[in-house]
Amino acid sequence: MGLCPLHDDRHPSFLVDPDKNLFYCYGCGRGGDVIRSLAEVGPAVVLCSWTTTIGYGTLLYSLNRALRSFGWYAIVGEGTTLVTALVLLPALLILARPRGSAAPR
Ligand SMILES: [Zn+2]
Repeated sequence: MGLCPLHDDRHPSFLVDPDKNLFYCYGCGRGGDVIRSLAEVGPAVVLCSWTTTIGYGTLLYSLNRALRSFGWYAIVGEGTTLVTALVLLPALLILARPRGSAAPR
């Protein structure tokens, strides 16, 4: 049990079942599978990634070529991580589901 990231939680009410890839919050009643959790927290992940990218983007104005290069590589790495976390891994989870099984509601 942990603090729920989906509401202002003061007492641990958030439960994750890693064997079944399910989550449920006894405080706010939200729950579901990995895809549902991405729908809940995905926008926050994108916003956090965007602010990180802006931070790395400031390195592109450096006079030092090494720092400019680091900025480019960090931005590409951030974009790759974001696409992997929000698109590639969920797609692989959907493809890995046994045939005939539907997502839990
Ligand atoms: Zn909650």
